[in-house]
Amino acid sequence: MSIKDNILYFDEQLRNTPCRLIAVTKTHPIKTIQEAYDAGHRLFGENKVQELVEKRDLLPHDIAWHLIGHLQTNKVKYIAQFVDTIQSVDSLKLLVEINKRAEQFNRTLPVNCMLQISIADEETKYGMTMEEAEAILQSEEYRQMKYIRITGVMGIATNTDDEGKLRGEFRQLRYNFLHLKEKYFFANDDFKEISMGMTSDWKIALEEGSTMIRVGSGIFGNRNYNR
Ligand SMILES: *Cc1c(COP(=O)(O)O)cnc(C)c1O
Repeated sequence: MSIKDNILYFDEQLRNTPCRLIAVTKTHPIKTIQEAYDAGHRLFGENKVQELVEKRDLLPHDIAWHLIGHLQTNKVKYIAQFVDTIQSVDSLKLLVEINKRAEQFNRTLPVNCMLQISIADEETKYGMTMEEAEAILQSEEYRQMKYIRITGVMGIATNTDDEGKLRGEFRQLRYNFLHLKEKYFFANDDFKEISMGMTSDWKIALEEGSTMIRVGSGIFGNRNYNR
């Protein structure tokens, strides 16, 4: 299957669902990504700042770029001008910095941000507990932010073949989303996204209510880390 075929396959699978595809381009060269673009795709995700910046420069500028990997505060300045969405917000400190840099660039559109919640039971290096996420939403700093729009939650499930376990984690994230929606975003239509599901588990995630699947190898093939 060509990359174009893969994009068309996902378009077909997601038709008549509320779910969109984030094509994850990490480690893949420009030429490969351009093929997905030429097939009509415009939503792309990267997990590293440097790769994101390089690719954004070399590809058409109507791409909506999502940062999906851990973001260090000192790197926000490199992406704040153009990034569409930062899916990996995991602290108030980071959110404060995103807001500050977006203001410096005088952005006309706010930066869409998603709260990364830890749902996996392993190596939960990144992602917040619900208590941490709620502390952000209750903070005075957050209330003052003019350049941030919180659009939903993101989670990375455990790396396992255990379908029951994956389903349980996705369901947990959906409950987390519903809780935050009711408590903090009841009348706010911006808060609507649940980003969950990757190449190996997106079908389960979709069944459990995902609105954004993040697929890399399922579109672009296996990653070559030795390039
Ligand atoms: C790499 C990555 C993906 C995509 O992984 P695949 O298994 O290649 O689909 C999704 N989400 C995040 C956060 C990633 O870093």
